Amino acid sequence: MRRRSLRLAVLLAALLAAVGLAQTALVVNGVPVDGSTSALVKGTSYAPAAALASALGARYFTDADTTVVTLQLGGHILEAQVATDPAKASVSGALHLDGTVVDGPAAVMQDGDVFLPVKPVAQALGGSVAYLQKQKTVVVVQPRAQLTGMSVNGSGAGQQLVVQLSAPVGYSRFYNQPVGTLQLHFDRTDVGSGVSGLQGDSFVRADAGSSGDGTDVRVQLAPNTGYHVYSLPDGTGFRVVVTFPPTNTAQAPLPHIVIDPGHGGQDPGINFPGYGSEASLTLAFSQQLQKLLQGRGFDVTLTRTGDYSVDASTRSRDGIGADLFVSIHGAVLPPGQFNAYYLSDASSVDSLTMAIRQNAQSAVQSQDVSALRRRILLGLVPQIDVGRSFADGLGTQLFQNGGYRAAVTTGAPLYVLGGAAGRGVLLEFSPQDLASDTLPAALAGALANLVGAGGATQ
Ligand SMILES: [Zn+2]
Repeated sequence: MRRRSLRLAVLLAALLAAVGLAQTALVVNGVPVDGSTSALVKGTSYAPAAALASALGARYFTDADTTVVTLQLGGHILEAQVATDPAKASVSGALHLDGTVVDGPAAVMQDGDVFLPVKPVAQALGGSVAYLQKQKTVVVVQPRAQLTGMSVNGSGAGQQLVVQLSAPVGYSRFYNQPVGTLQLHFDRTDVGSGVSGLQGDSFVRADAGSSGDGTDVRVQLAPNTGYHVYSLPDGTGFRVVVTFPPTNTAQAPLPHIVIDPGHGGQDPGINFPGYGSEASLTLAFSQQLQKLLQGRGFDVTLTRTGDYSVDASTRSRDGIGADLFVSIHGAVLPPGQFNAYYLSDASSVDSLTMAIRQNAQSAVQSQDVSALRRRILLGLVPQIDVGRSFADGLGTQLFQNGGYRAAVTTGAPLYVLGGAAGRGVLLEFSPQDLASDTLPAALAGALANLVGAGGATQ
C-alpha cells in the first residue's frame, strides 16, 4: 500500500516535471498571455492563435476548415498554414507576410485549438522577441508607431488623404455623423514632430492629435461626400488612404449592367434532367433578362452570348466599372428559392464551401483566390459594403415581386465577382425558375430598382 503510493508520488513528480519543461510563459507588451507551450514542436514557443493575435493588436481570421489562419495588423497580412500533426509543422512556405514567404514553422492544431509560433509571427508583424532563460519566459515588445506624415494626392473629387505610419499598429475608424467628421484612431501611436493639419479639395480639413494611448486623425468631410478607407503595407510601416466618393449621384450616366451566364462550352455545369444543362439554362435566362432590362433603358452586356467557354478572369474583368454585375447559376433548389452571394471574405462554413466549389469549377488558381482574399481583408476592394446591400435588396425585391425566398444570402470570396467588387452578386436559382416565364421579369424589376432611376421611363 505504502510502496504503491510512493510509486504514484514519483510518477506524479515526473509528470509535473515534464509539464513544467513544456511550459514557457509569454508576455506581450508587458501583458501575460496564457496557454503558451513549447511542447508542440521541440524548442519552439507556440501560443494560442486568437490570444496571440489579440495581444499583438491584430485582427484574426480563420477559414472554414482551418487550413490557413490570417492575422491583419496595420496594412500587413500574415497567413499561416495549419498543420494537424506537429511533427509536420517545420515545412517551408508555411508563413506568408503580404503574400511573400517568411521563415518559420506552420501553425499547429491541437485538440481543436490553433497555436501559432510566437517568434516568427511577432517578428513578421514588427515585434522584437527575447527569451528569458531563467524565467522560461518569451518576451515580445512591439514598437510604438509614429504618425510621420499626412499628405494629399491629386485634386478635386479624386483627391486622396494619405496618412503615413512607421510601424504596424491596429487602427479603427468612426464616423461622427452630427459633425460630419471621420475619425481614425491608431493604437500605440505618437504624432511625429512637424506633422500639421491639412486642407483639401475633397475634404475640409484633417488634423492629428494624441488621444489616450494612441493618436486620432479627424477629417472634416465636405458636403455630399462619403469616405472609403483602406491600408497598404509600406516598408516596416503602412499607409492609410482615405478617398472621398461623391454621394450626390444625380448626374450619373446610364447605368451599365453586366450579366454573366454561368458555365458554357466544355463546362456544361449541372445537368438538370428535363431541363438540360446549367450552361444552356443560364444563357437563355440571361438573354431574356438582357432584353427586359434594355427595355427599361439600361445599358446591358453579357459575358457570354453562346455555348462556348469563358474563363473566370475574363468574366471578372468584364465586371470592372459596371454599376451592377450579376452572375447567374442553377442549383438543386426547390422552385421559388434562390441563393444570393456577394463578395466578402467567407462569413460562414457554407459560404466558403460554396466559394471553393465555384472557384474550382471555373479553374481559378488558389493563389489568385488568396490574393483576392488579401485585398478583401485589407479593404482594397472598392465599395465592398455595397454588395451586401445589393444581395439583401434583391432578397426583399424578389420576394415582393414574385414570392421568391432567399434560402441563403451570404458573403464569399468569389473570384468571378472580383472585377465588379462591391457591385457584384452571384445568384443561384432552381432549374424550374430559370426556365419559367415569371423569374426573368421579376428579376429585371428587382435589378432595375436596385440600380436606381437610370431607366428611361423612371
Ligand atoms: Zn454553376
